[in-house]
Amino acid sequence: MNAGAYNFIVSATLLIPLLAGLAAAWLVNYLADVLPETLRLSRPVCANPDCRQPFGWGDYLLLRRCRSCGRRRGGRALAVIVFLAALSVYLWLDPPARLGYGFALLLLSYLALVTLIDLEHRLILRPVSVAGLLICTAAGLLLHGWQSTLAGFAAGFGLMMLFYLVGLLFNRLRARRLGQEAGEAEEAFGSGDVTLGALLGLLLGWPLIWAAILLGLLLYGVISLAIILVLLLLQRYRERAWRTFVPLGPGFILIAFLMIYFPSVIAALLPK
Ligand SMILES: [Zn+2]
Repeated sequence: MNAGAYNFIVSATLLIPLLAGLAAAWLVNYLADVLPETLRLSRPVCANPDCRQPFGWGDYLLLRRCRSCGRRRGGRALAVIVFLAALSVYLWLDPPARLGYGFALLLLSYLALVTLIDLEHRLILRPVSVAGLLICTAAGLLLHGWQSTLAGFAAGFGLMMLFYLVGLLFNRLRARRLGQEAGEAEEAFGSGDVTLGALLGLLLGWPLIWAAILLGLLLYGVISLAIILVLLLLQRYRERAWRTFVPLGPGFILIAFLMIYFPSVIAALLPK
């Protein structure tokens, strides 16, 4: 076979992960749109609160704007498509050891879905947690065996529960100082983060979950500090600086994502 024909065949097989990545992205966008609203596989509706007209499936698939109010679909749908299509091709060319291409793409799509729902709604939904229990247990067993998976689960759940309880206490004290009801102030640690800790514990296993939580908290601290500093510097947002809420979940998921898919990045961050 000559080089031209060979190159053509290699390029043509890349259509497989490209299409699989597009399909995964479409599914992630769809689930992130409908699950927080209806908790079932309903027809997606326009995001404009004054419109809420259902999308035709063809319009939805092609990211067309709403036919009733003309609202665009927004950058998130496109960002998910670019991210998952690119990583799908990357995983196809260099599949992670033990997971294999198909499962690696499934896990990645799941992590993307949890991140989107956490960022947009600050929620971890029950059906999404149940699916995560299955996917993260299977991934944990493949990656590091049952003892490490079980110990990771206990550590992830236990540590996040501890932080959650400390957060509740801190919140109550702060609310008393500000003269609010404890329920009014937003919690840094939500009960969803405890679920997330358990899921990432299964996925990463012991002792990696320990490093992930430390790095996640560090990342959280750096991002929160940066946001508060920027708000303090911008005169007109100064009032808001101390009330800004940064969700924890996405930072932890980002660390877990890097640990599984780009371990060399994490190795460079950790002390030798
Ligand atoms: Zn509309």
